[in-house]
Amino acid sequence: MTKEELWQAVLAQIQLNISQANFSTWFKDTGILSYKEGQVMVSVPNSFAKEWLENKYGKTIAKIIFSLDQEIKDVKYILGKSELKVIKRNPVSLASVGQLEIEEFKIDKDTNLNPKYTFESFVVGPSNELSHAAAWAVGKKPGAVYNPLFIYGGVGLGKTHLLQSIGNTIIKNFPEKKVRYIPAEKFTAGIISSIKNHDVETFKKMYRSIDVLILDDVQFLAGKEKTQEEFFHTFNTLYEDNKQIILSSDRPPKAIPALEERLRSRFEGGMIGDIGYPDYETRMAILKTKSQEKALNFSDEVLGYLATNIQRNVRELEGALNRLVAYQRINNKNPELEDAKSLLKSLLLSPSKVVNPKKIIDSVANFYDLKEKEIISISRKKEIVRPRQIAMYLLREELKSSYPFIGRRFGGKDHTTAIHACEKIVKELENNENLGNEITLIKQRIYTG
Ligand code: ADP
Ligand code: MG
Repeated sequence: MTKEELWQAVLAQIQLNISQANFSTWFKDTGILSYKEGQVMVSVPNSFAKEWLENKYGKTIAKIIFSLDQEIKDVKYILGKSELKVIKRNPVSLASVGQLEIEEFKIDKDTNLNPKYTFESFVVGPSNELSHAAAWAVGKKPGAVYNPLFIYGGVGLGKTHLLQSIGNTIIKNFPEKKVRYIPAEKFTAGIISSIKNHDVETFKKMYRSIDVLILDDVQFLAGKEKTQEEFFHTFNTLYEDNKQIILSSDRPPKAIPALEERLRSRFEGGMIGDIGYPDYETRMAILKTKSQEKALNFSDEVLGYLATNIQRNVRELEGALNRLVAYQRINNKNPELEDAKSLLKSLLLSPSKVVNPKKIIDSVANFYDLKEKEIISISRKKEIVRPRQIAMYLLREELKSSYPFIGRRFGGKDHTTAIHACEKIVKELENNENLGNEITLIKQRIYTG
């Protein structure tokens, strides 16, 4: 058996036992480097994959190899080619320390895609496994498997990253396809200005000539009737031509307020995947991948501190990591746990974490596409009463506000109204999962917005 055959045999076995998404994440670019004297050297693309293969799949791999060749006593993992690139990368000069957030890559003018968002740089875990697998499938066969693909999840959890990865994969595999990524807000702005400039036809034509349309953050279409109308027609034209449509939102289609029914049912007509909060292992994996991209090697203790304290937003996790990177570059040494603690103190207690009634009410109003005035009004319309009850509940839960205070804060209502609202929501939360999800999303906005 050649080393290629041996590895193919191992991969074939492994593939049967793990998800496609995990398989592609962990076994991509692996191979057998050498196979002699009772030892097999497996090459892996980066030290994170190395760790993962050794710890998670090491036993299984060894078992398969031993069963295929009794002579083999030992399996070792070493870094393959791609690692060299990282090591060789020049250290960034001090001048750029303050600009860590600046995009390293150029955004493509035609597609609007940022090449840094790839499947390779996306860490797969239980929180995003299904969405990742669906995205991967769409990247392989645009227009053929899931159409539309709708991915939803809270702020900073990787929706844009996943959507753009699909786009980047498609332009690589199908260079002839016209891919366009656009945030829904920009799409709306485009429609408005085309109406103003009496140029709607050009706008329509442009969008209808696309092969893959990626519309990010469609919750921003809420209440924008003209945009929804236009998008509906664009959607239909593309869909009927088997063109791929990919959408994201911070909540499932049925929870987007003021979304036309026909558009909602279009969104629900394909595949819907969600992205949840990453678990501890995934957060660590993300931190390790990101620090490796920057050719840095922070201790597990320090990374563990970050992963423990920042749980609900990958973007914040990255922000924290960037602070450590800046420290490392300025001091030319890795931060110790104590350094990390003091560096992140301000971040963990930043003003955005400080919650007050206004912030809660604004967040709820914003989530349901209402005005703050409406929430505190006396209106008894169902679409206002419920968000109001949720806002009252959140004031009670998050701030421990007294019932009389809550009543007063909502336009001078009686404290019994506040009690009733809170009790109603508490009761409903027991068996309404959707409500629970909505409240989680709102809280996320309160704490990160
Ligand atoms: P969203 O669009 O859901 O608000 P983004 O896609 O912008 O979130 O993600 C925020 C940041 O976190 C990005 O820099 C992205 O690369 C990173 N990120 C999120 N999830 C992952 C993941 N699973 N693996 C690697 N990076 C991730
Ligand atoms: Mg996004």
